Amino acid sequence: MKTIGLIGGMSWESTVPYYRIINEAVRARLGLLHSARCVLWSFDFQEIEELQHRGDWDELTGRMIDAAKAVERAGADFIVICTNTMHMMAEQVRAAVRIPLLHIADATADAIRAAGLGKVGLLATRFTMEQDFYKGRLGEKHGLDVLIPDEADRKVVHDVIYNELCAGRVKDESRRKYRAIIRRLADAGAEGIILGCTEIGLLVKPEDSPVPLFDTTPIHAEAAVEFALA
Ligand code: GLU
Repeated sequence: MKTIGLIGGMSWESTVPYYRIINEAVRARLGLLHSARCVLWSFDFQEIEELQHRGDWDELTGRMIDAAKAVERAGADFIVICTNTMHMMAEQVRAAVRIPLLHIADATADAIRAAGLGKVGLLATRFTMEQDFYKGRLGEKHGLDVLIPDEADRKVVHDVIYNELCAGRVKDESRRKYRAIIRRLADAGAEGIILGCTEIGLLVKPEDSPVPLFDTTPIHAEAAVEFALA
């Protein structure tokens, strides 16, 4: 079994499910008392959030590279960044270490393709919905057609992530807003919805959507176990 190098704490509310799913998947595959070999680097998310909203992506890239090198030194065989947004600097991180990086968008695209879908809606932070590092990869590398919510809906999705979900608050009122946004994406032609932020699965469940959901947290965590046991 390979050692998984988790870069998490962004926020820890979603790193906990990663850790649980990874260990459950190893036990399901190997039985007995087997559990995952892993090392975890966990950030103080307040610092990360301030740098993100200040737009200091160079500083964030440096911190991500330092974290990747730390898990590599600690014995990790590959890297799993436990957030979609911080895949913005995935290529710089990949270039800074000798071990591979398991990209969250690739694992998600594989799941969407396996389900036979080609057009999907994306719910995520503004950074992930509006910039090209994620949508671009889904389109260019995997041939997926990606729809994002309109400006007002993007603001709702983003604000709920940072003001509520990353702070451990799960509100029915926000679930209702997300359900309406998902419905609008489905009406616009989305055959499935990517929960492209690792906390959204804490709020939204399959019954909240008329089309299949692709929750990046379990998809990425299970892909990590596949890779670790391959
Ligand atoms: N966990 C979230 C994501 O998957 C947002 C927090 C962050 O900015 O890393 O994008």
